[in-house]
Amino acid sequence: MSRVNETALKKRAALCAYCGSCTACCPVQSVAADFGPRAVARCALFGLSAEATEASWLCAGCHKCDMACPQDVRPSEIIRDLRALSPETGRLHPVFSKQMELLIRQGRLYLVDEFENDGREDEGLPRLAEELPDVAVLLGGGEQA
Ligand code: SF4
Ligand code: SF4
Repeated sequence: MSRVNETALKKRAALCAYCGSCTACCPVQSVAADFGPRAVARCALFGLSAEATEASWLCAGCHKCDMACPQDVRPSEIIRDLRALSPETGRLHPVFSKQMELLIRQGRLYLVDEFENDGREDEGLPRLAEELPDVAVLLGGGEQA
């Protein structure tokens, strides 16, 4: 059963007057022009599209849109609910899918290899394990040692 009450979500999205105040103050908009809380709220209203669910992962969770909204739509909560729907829609922004892949494969987002460890040694720092299999186990992608 879905953890998201889609009817309640759509009800709140329906309050949107499409004024754009939320998108105008969204800090993510300046680096991802296609993203905007107004668009996400509208998508939520018109069918919870996979694209909206995917876009929801770009939100930085600053809640500025909630403060700017004159209609109490609370776009950040709609975005949070859309994220929660990701497992059902199978849509996770590609950036996060890639990060998950890296975490399962090497235990961290940043690759630590021989070159990196040689540099650490030169700086008097301890060597690091190149892989962290426990992280994969925690994420359900590896085998318990
Ligand atoms: S909570 Fe998300 S959508 Fe709202 S302004 Fe912040 S980054 Fe943008
Ligand atoms: S500020 Fe509120 S009413 Fe205006 S577009 Fe955003 S969600 Fe809709």
